[in-house]
Amino acid sequence: MKGIVRKQVLVTGGAGFLGSHLCERLLGEGHDVLCLDNFYTGTKDNIIHLLDNPHFEVIRHDVTFPLYIEVDEIFNLACPASPIHYQYDPVQTTKTSVHGAINMLGLAKRVGARIMQASTSEVYGDPEMHPQPESYWGNVNPIGIRSCYDEGKRCAEALFFDYWRQHSLEIKVARIFNTYGPRMHPNDGRVVSNFIVQALRGEPITIYGDGSQTRSFCYVDDMVEGFLRLMETPADFTGPVNLGNPGEFTIRELAEKVVEMTGSTSEIVTKPLPQDDPRQRQPDISLAREKLGWEPQVKLEEGLVQTIAYFENLLKQMG
Ligand code: NAD
Ligand code: UDP
Repeated sequence: MKGIVRKQVLVTGGAGFLGSHLCERLLGEGHDVLCLDNFYTGTKDNIIHLLDNPHFEVIRHDVTFPLYIEVDEIFNLACPASPIHYQYDPVQTTKTSVHGAINMLGLAKRVGARIMQASTSEVYGDPEMHPQPESYWGNVNPIGIRSCYDEGKRCAEALFFDYWRQHSLEIKVARIFNTYGPRMHPNDGRVVSNFIVQALRGEPITIYGDGSQTRSFCYVDDMVEGFLRLMETPADFTGPVNLGNPGEFTIRELAEKVVEMTGSTSEIVTKPLPQDDPRQRQPDISLAREKLGWEPQVKLEEGLVQTIAYFENLLKQMG
């Protein structure tokens, strides 16, 4: 412990990709961590190395139902994040974002906890402004196949700000841009995990559309650092604040990089572009720089080395 007060911290979605890294980091900072998850997309494997730690507790629970516990801080991450998973049961996705936010905000209000929402760059939809600052209201299709996620997250943001205005809750809203790293689910369909797994298996690398659409990829350790810094900001800073890596790449560039770095013999093939797939995405992180003193430290190549090593090991174990 670095001379800090031990807090009781609730991480919803704690057995997921980002949540498991956050739990690990919070334990390292000397806190008691309550990891809540219904294991919809998260797995026990992500947190198995933490289970022996007496300061770590797992709660199997669905955030769409109320929860009565005592905590000092809440990181609300519960929600499937990959398009394949959130489109599998879209009604449940909206419920998770909206009912989940209401329940976690209700909990925060009852116990006087500070609460951070894991929002998303998807609130900007297919943006007409580039890069996207927090002041941009977005271009979201309200009735498309991504709407369960995008509108669910937008509604959650609205709820956070209403609890702040109406009940003076201490809220923090992070708008997370594409994040990658070890413990991404190998079959969740997100681009970084897909390309690496395909390359390592020698299967065709599937570019959707012509591959000219762009994304900006942030390594998980940088993202978790951003979460912690945001939570520690003064009470009058609510966000929303963009967290992501401004380095922007086309999907074709990513595919070529992965092939080169894995030494794969995979060919690159194209498949139809999914509906409402955003054309470009890059965070404007001026606000995060100013208020959090934060910017990503890990370059795409460095992060890919770690992520490729993780998947190599995982695929070996899977046989
Ligand atoms: P993930 O799917 O790995 O983790 C989500 C976790 O939430 C899983 O462990 C899942 O089992 C759990 N969960 C889902 N529904 C639940 C429910 N109803 N009750 C309890 N637990 C539930 O995804 P991730 O990449 O770790 O994303 C974490 C959060 O960050 C999500 O809210 C996501 O929307 C947000 N986010 C992530 C990214 C990214 O690039 N990874 C980008 C933008 C936003
Ligand atoms: N994508 C792709 N091939 C894949 C998976 C994804 O070309 O095998 C594309 C997808 O169409 C999108 C981008 O990569 O343009 C990022 O997709 P992801 O699902 O990772 O995240 P999101 O679209 O939510 O940013």
